[in-house]
Amino acid sequence: MVQRTFLMFEAAVLTKFKKIKISKFVAPTNLREDQVLVKISYAGICGSQIMEYLGHRGKDNFLPHAFGHEASGKVIRIGKKVKKVSINDEVILSWIKGKGLDYGGFKLTDDKNCKINFGPISTFSSMAIVSENRVFLKPKKMSKIEAVLYGCATPTGAGIVIKQLNEIKSKHKVCLIGVGGVGLAALLALKLKKPQIYIFEKNKKKNKFLSKFNVNFIPSNKIILYKDYFDFCIETSGSSEMIERAFNLIKKKGKLIFASHPNNKKKIKLNPHDLISGKKIFGSWGGSCKLDYDINKIFNYFNKKNVFSLHGKISIFKLKEINKAFKKVMSGEINRALIKF
Ligand SMILES: [Zn+2]
Repeated sequence: MVQRTFLMFEAAVLTKFKKIKISKFVAPTNLREDQVLVKISYAGICGSQIMEYLGHRGKDNFLPHAFGHEASGKVIRIGKKVKKVSINDEVILSWIKGKGLDYGGFKLTDDKNCKINFGPISTFSSMAIVSENRVFLKPKKMSKIEAVLYGCATPTGAGIVIKQLNEIKSKHKVCLIGVGGVGLAALLALKLKKPQIYIFEKNKKKNKFLSKFNVNFIPSNKIILYKDYFDFCIETSGSSEMIERAFNLIKKKGKLIFASHPNNKKKIKLNPHDLISGKKIFGSWGGSCKLDYDINKIFNYFNKKNVFSLHGKISIFKLKEINKAFKKVMSGEINRALIKF
């Protein structure tokens, strides 16, 4: 069914590095066959958008472009070939590809007659036009605010623990480096597996909030004492130096998984002998999650609890405050920032 009502929406556009403007658009009445038009409830800001904003992903050939890659909302129009969702479905939007069609990006002209690039997903907008493979049905019992985290941080962090490191048992020692959104989701998943958990988090402001999880903290000046100590290390701090350091912390047969995606210019250096002697290192692409199944799997793993409330200091902003929200996230003042529509 095609609704031909004239719909305007606002979207944050990255015009150049460190510059976001809000533009107005008309939603296409005829969506492309693979597209879904979603009225957004909440969109999340994560480290990935901060890296884009700062220009740390390298040359950006798509500027000016809409951005954002995790949100919750409601379907209001669908393209002809979309089968996965229907109008009025409550959904989660994610950058992690799932089942369904994806014909790539597109351009829209804003009210100032500028052509703006849109990828298969962008979420900092009152309505989002996304490809079918980035849309997932929200479990009925999951709140809209919780659902945002299932578009990025929760599947990545929890996926690392319950999919990529499923062998973790209570006898193991696990070190978690960096406790932002992904690190916190990993921590919540680890708590259910009950290994000995050690945390290394540079931002001391987070320690008070983290102390309620009954974990061991590693002070910066003591980290050297933990060389070859851990069975597993999960690194989510976003820096290549910390990936190198994390590799030193695991035992000879230990495993390091990193979810950090540092500045494009940064490389990591490892001691080849560590690899010969059995240390293993893997990256994590969305916690190896297949969201069409794993959203429910993870939600059930957390006993359908609202883990959102455990996320420490979360601030909610309006779209027009997005520049302020980015600055607060970058300063480490808040753990998570959401845009509410
Ligand atoms: Zn994200």
